[in-house]
Amino acid sequence: MKLDETDARILKHLQEDARISFRELGKTIGVSTPTVSSRVKALEERGVIRGYSALIDTEAIQETTSIVSVECQPKHLEKLAKSLSEKENVREVLVLSGSKLMCRLVSESEATINSFLAWLEGLEEIDRYSIDRVVRTTKKEPDAVISEGISIVVPCYLCRKPITDDPVTLKMDGRTHYLCCETCSKLYRERYEELKKGIPQESGKHHS
Ligand SMILES: [Zn+2]
Repeated sequence: MKLDETDARILKHLQEDARISFRELGKTIGVSTPTVSSRVKALEERGVIRGYSALIDTEAIQETTSIVSVECQPKHLEKLAKSLSEKENVREVLVLSGSKLMCRLVSESEATINSFLAWLEGLEEIDRYSIDRVVRTTKKEPDAVISEGISIVVPCYLCRKPITDDPVTLKMDGRTHYLCCETCSKLYRERYEELKKGIPQESGKHHS
């Protein structure tokens, strides 16, 4: 499944400003408000848009950022990644090739950094680590680089397999449902309509 131009433009604008109104967004990209609304809904349903959150300036609340690099034996990598991920002040953990990990540590005080380092040194899985204070950020963009023609992976609503070709879509009750093939589509529609009639799923009429 590919992103078309309208989807790509919508995502670009929303990533820059999630609070832009559908009306304004539609005007900017030259489509109607209902089009924006239904596209956004579909992107949310397909899991492309995971949510909306406020960007809080860490400097404004006097927090500092450090980058912590960790090296370990390959067998310890997963456990270490998990331990680091559980720390509140660790805001991002990247597992790198070559048995390395990198984390972004945000701290409100020197004491927090020190206690984090004390904890880190107590981990016997670590071969080596280094910590560097971020002095200045000269670029920080949201993660997704959005361009037209990006493929979106959507699981089939019935069989849950990723849909690789164009999906078969069903519009029911104002929602778009995505299926991988005509067979899934037919079965899904039957089940959906039966469910709507109030027949419980365990009725034996279903082939699951
Ligand atoms: Zn399917």
